[in-house]
Amino acid sequence: MPSTAGQDYPRSYAQLRSWFNEDWKCLDYLDWLRWPNGFACPHCSCERGWRAPDLRWRCAGCDRRVSATAGTILHGTRTPLTVWFAAAWHLVNSKVGISATQLQREMELGSYQTAWAMLHRYRSVMVRPGRDRLRGDVEVDESYLGGPEPGIPGRGALGKVLFAATVELDEHSFGRVRLGIIPDASAESLTAFLDGAVEPGSRVITDGWSSYPPATRDHYEHHNTSIAASGLPAHVVLPATHRVFSLVKRWVMGTLQGSVSSAHLQGYFDEWVFRFNRRHSRSRGLQFHTLLSQAVGAGPITYREMRLAGRTRPAPSPPTRARSRPASLDLGDVGLPWRRLVLSSGRTTP
Ligand SMILES: [Zn+2]
Repeated sequence: MPSTAGQDYPRSYAQLRSWFNEDWKCLDYLDWLRWPNGFACPHCSCERGWRAPDLRWRCAGCDRRVSATAGTILHGTRTPLTVWFAAAWHLVNSKVGISATQLQREMELGSYQTAWAMLHRYRSVMVRPGRDRLRGDVEVDESYLGGPEPGIPGRGALGKVLFAATVELDEHSFGRVRLGIIPDASAESLTAFLDGAVEPGSRVITDGWSSYPPATRDHYEHHNTSIAASGLPAHVVLPATHRVFSLVKRWVMGTLQGSVSSAHLQGYFDEWVFRFNRRHSRSRGLQFHTLLSQAVGAGPITYREMRLAGRTRPAPSPPTRARSRPASLDLGDVGLPWRRLVLSSGRTTP
């Protein structure tokens, strides 16, 4: 685990911009993240190679040329890495993330699709493979997203989606969260959700819904309170999950205006959970580092695959006009563009 802010990862946005002001520096950082112990060819596993001046490797075993982005979610990208890096920073560090429209505008990207695809590629790697399941005392409950809800605006494109949440209970507050779309509230669906999200042996706290006893079986200690019989409102019986439901619904239906297809919703959940579970982290740069490490550790994903995932509201069509290369943030010395007259010394004057 890297630990040093200001060395292993930038400690602030200012430092990010000064470290990664040129595209080749970004590529070198990805190289360092992907091959911390030196190059290893993804094709033939050979560990010897030479680095070309463009920073790609030439494998000594199979003679292929391999870039640090090859075979990752950044595979074959036309978007400059300086833009990818700035986008990653905004995605993990802004409280509500960044929308594709906002990203397109801020980075002067040629199309909305480019911004949309970049964000979805990042979302696809927000769950670390083999991450721990929640443990200890955990609340579990399910809720609808997109249905009518007091204080939360309309349904947008989403329709109505059932999802489950589980929240670890710390002594003083809430710990980590997992969110998952579930097809229905049957014992079978809840079993699958619990198996993926909660460590066996944990104490699972639920309401009185009849699917929970079979879903918790002998894998968990089960504590249930019938909301009807207790006379208590649900947010008192299950305060943690209800707090999470309200935050998630406000984000999806409010900030994102419900303009999310149900097929892409799990990606948005993963993004929300990524930020929520790191909300107490003091290091902003560490989250950036985590996201980029996972980006070079995962396989490629094509635009077509992402579009196929969209059923209720398809992803935007690929751009039809000639594709221009998006502007890099690697601009070199641009002088003082707001001054109009340039003196012969190269200095500018009003
Ligand atoms: Zn090779």
